[in-house]
Amino acid sequence: MKGKIILAILGLVVIAMGIIVLSQLKGAKQKNIDAEKIKITTTLFPLYDMAKNIGADKADVSLLMPPGTEPHTFEPKPSDIIKINEADIFVYTGRFMEPWAEDIIKGVINKNLIVVDASRGTRMIRAVFPDKDEPSGGLDPHIWLDFDNAKIMTKNIAEALEAKDPADKAFFRQKAADYNKQLTELDASFRTALSACNRKEIVCGGHYAFGYVAHRYGLRYLAAQGVSPDAEPTAKDLVRLVEQIKKNNIHYVFYEELTSPKIAETIARETHAKLLLLNAAHNVTKDQFKRGVSFFEILHTDLEQLKIGLECR
Ligand SMILES: [Zn+2]
Repeated sequence: MKGKIILAILGLVVIAMGIIVLSQLKGAKQKNIDAEKIKITTTLFPLYDMAKNIGADKADVSLLMPPGTEPHTFEPKPSDIIKINEADIFVYTGRFMEPWAEDIIKGVINKNLIVVDASRGTRMIRAVFPDKDEPSGGLDPHIWLDFDNAKIMTKNIAEALEAKDPADKAFFRQKAADYNKQLTELDASFRTALSACNRKEIVCGGHYAFGYVAHRYGLRYLAAQGVSPDAEPTAKDLVRLVEQIKKNNIHYVFYEELTSPKIAETIARETHAKLLLLNAAHNVTKDQFKRGVSFFEILHTDLEQLKIGLECR
């Protein structure tokens, strides 16, 4: 009887050891799978969202811009340059949005790195309120807010993935098509909602980020600053904006994400207008990043804000 118990215990020990060894093997295999994933480093949030959706489980996507930082004044650290060099694919918006990217690309040591200028083939418009000090010469770098441009950006990202992993070409194409279908739906929602508004002016107490939305849906766009938020608006610019708001009896002023709403608050105080957030999705907050906010979620919220601010029916 005693012998049987000892045998049973021994048997259990052998089974337990087997389970431990098996789980370790599984862990090692899992690591191998991760190592096989395509490493993508992206600069801005829209590119991160696109790459994550198109690459799905075949890609390991990272966002270079730390969540919570304002991207126009971002400057890469040496560790960011290493991160770009270690990637398989590096995606940036374009030279007007990330003027620092070109120098890094020139200095890349990793010869297998595919660099994606997501703006390739997109149509850029001129900011109505151009800032001659801007590197873009007045061209609006917020191309992702034109949903046709966003589709071209997804195509550019999908092509890079296909080049890295030709065997999964059909997979990436399907994922890009799914993403673009959502962009088509988003565009239709914007077009329908914004065609029935009492107000036709988006007044923003921040930088000139929503030019594409205004251009696309037949609205006027008035911003306190140029296409980058680092230059303070002049007193003359602010007076002009306040006069426009009073003259057109505008009730809402928009402020932007991740920068101080100081200017918008001043304008609102002067005009008794109410403040509303309009998020251009350059980057997200730490909390948004943690809970996995999507580009579409941000833009649908923007549409709700626009519907209030423009008094749409
Ligand atoms: Zn911007």
